This record gives sequence, structure tokens and C-alpha cells, in this order.
Amino acid sequence: MSKETVMRRVCDLHNDREGFEVPLTVGVHAYALDLCYECQEALLAAVEPFTDAAPAPAAQPTPARRTRKTAAPRTVPMLVREWCAANGVPVSPHGKIPRVVEDQYLAAQA
Ligand SMILES: [Zn+2]
Repeated sequence: MSKETVMRRVCDLHNDREGFEVPLTVGVHAYALDLCYECQEALLAAVEPFTDAAPAPAAQPTPARRTRKTAAPRTVPMLVREWCAANGVPVSPHGKIPRVVEDQYLAAQA
């Protein structure tokens, strides 16, 4: 008999929901959160008073070499899905957002 082990990322607060990695750094404190869409929305709402008051971030200098294999996410899936819904762009309510849809979203934000 063969076995298959499947690893699934789940929300840190809701173990029954799919989670997505959300890197969070506040000063010297760094976290790797796994959050469902609802929790991402709650986190964004909680920090909104601070992010709204902050100036836009300055461009970061390009590092001499990459120290991580995975790039930081380019978009917040919940926000992309909200934009897709408002603009009639079809996208699955679950899973990774296709690069072409991310590109459309980013182009619309520019
Ligand atoms: Zn959650």
C-alpha cells in the first residue's frame, strides 16, 4: 500500500481555512503569518490608521545578491480579488492568483 502525504497551509487562527503566507516586520520583530482572506482583511484594517498616516515608502536599493530564493509577494490576494470583482475580471476565489491577473491589477494601480 502506498501513502501520499499532503501539506496544506492553513490560517493561524482558523485551522479549517486555507492560509497564505503573510510576512510581517515591525521594527526588529519579524513574523511569518499564515492567514486566510478574512484575517488578512482584519490585519489590514488594524494597521490602516498607521499606514494611512505614513508617507509612501522610498524606493529600496537593489541588494548586491539575493539572500532568499522566494521573492516577496507582489500583491495582497484579497485586494486583487476585490479589484477583479469590481472590474469584471474572472479569478478563482481560492488558490494562487495567476500572474497575468496580478499584472492587470498592478497596471491598474499605477
Ligand atoms: Zn483566518
